[in-house]
Amino acid sequence: MPRIKILSDHLVNQIAAGEVVERPASALKELLENSVDAGSRTIQIELQAGGTKLIKVIDDGCGIEHDDLSLALHRHATSKIRDFDDLGRVATLGFRGEGLASIASVSRLALTSRAEGAAHAWRIESDNGRLHDPVPAALAAGTTVEVHDLYYQTPARRKFLKSESTEFAHCDDMVKRIALAHPEVQFALTHNGRALARLLRGDLARRAGAILGEDFVAHALPVDEGFERLRLTGFAGSPTQGKSSRDAQYFFVNGRFVRDKLVQHALREAYRDVLHHERHPAYCLFLEMAPEGVDVNVHPTKIEVRFRESQALYRFLLTALKKALSGAKAGAAAEAGI
Ligand code: ADP
Ligand code: MG
Repeated sequence: MPRIKILSDHLVNQIAAGEVVERPASALKELLENSVDAGSRTIQIELQAGGTKLIKVIDDGCGIEHDDLSLALHRHATSKIRDFDDLGRVATLGFRGEGLASIASVSRLALTSRAEGAAHAWRIESDNGRLHDPVPAALAAGTTVEVHDLYYQTPARRKFLKSESTEFAHCDDMVKRIALAHPEVQFALTHNGRALARLLRGDLARRAGAILGEDFVAHALPVDEGFERLRLTGFAGSPTQGKSSRDAQYFFVNGRFVRDKLVQHALREAYRDVLHHERHPAYCLFLEMAPEGVDVNVHPTKIEVRFRESQALYRFLLTALKKALSGAKAGAAAEAGI
């Protein structure tokens, strides 16, 4: 038998990167979540070649202290939780402390940041996980992360990347998910130097209009059901505007985009009598619930969650949506003069 050896941190990071950083869009997700967690008001995203050559995220958040810069790139280093109890009440999008470390292990990454009150910014570079010392840099405020050449030294992984346009489409969708959950933040997106989207600050209706279309918002049914510890808000698309794909389905739990079987089933059930069975509803819905009621710690990329009282939640969703949709039925009946 070969002897047992502890893997190097670098290799551990590269293995984790396979889970956390499946493709450019997943790296972008980690960066955007960090910018949101840092309280940014404006986030600028620059992509080159679908994010495979460059993912750059510029924010105006709280920044990182000089002494914490290299820690930010360390695995299991986070400012967001301290102990096990914190896990039960995570209020930030990140908490595992592995996003930046994983990305840095499979790219050339530069992190430039200026903490509030600091005399100037500092920049730290990492080449496939090898850290350089921080050097002084110029930056007015916030944090800028540049991820160059994702997977350039891991050809086995690079092979799995799709065409530039497919990878860009995934990045674009990621921006939409995060932007929908944060209408209070301004976003700008460029790809290969072309400005594509500029989402100004506003309320959810404005943001949803910019992302899902003004038509969607004009006909959607506003949802606001439940109470503080279990509340569903947002817009349920009109049954008259069913889609041929599921692309326009956005569901968030405590501000996190999730894709969950139970939720999808409840939504399908709610629309069953009002929407043609081959069409899919568009929606942008936000479920707020007690953090103890949902486990977001199921998967590193956190798109899956586990609900504690899933049956009760299912009934709540179904009832809330049916109620919202009955408004549509009544409206349609009134229009038809019934
Ligand atoms: P996590 O988000 O799970 O804490 P990350 O590896 O993504 O782990 O980030 C590590 C730490 O670096 C964060 O906890 C945070 O303190 C800091 N950080 C990362 N990105 C930013 C940013 N854009 N602005 C301010 N701090 C940041
Ligand atoms: Mg993070």
